[in-house]
Amino acid sequence: MSIFDFAAGTDPTMGESAAVCSRKACRSQASWQLLWNNPKIHTPERRKTWLACGDHREWLQDYLQTRGLWKETVPLEDGRVSGALEQDS
Ligand SMILES: [Zn+2]
Repeated sequence: MSIFDFAAGTDPTMGESAAVCSRKACRSQASWQLLWNNPKIHTPERRKTWLACGDHREWLQDYLQTRGLWKETVPLEDGRVSGALEQDS
């Protein structure tokens, strides 16, 4: 099962507009960034970013923590993503 089965972000039409929660089917404004790294496919310094609304921050964080991928959760200020948003693999 792919980790991406559970998160949106593969839809290119979402573009670079508003920061929307990465939880599949959730269209809420994101207020958190979850930074993660998959040691199997990423170098240690690499950070992938998922966005989360208040309702799904815990869910997504738990999902990543369960798989040993989670690194950090930081607030998303003013709907702006501080780093490069990468949701592809
Ligand atoms: Zn959400």
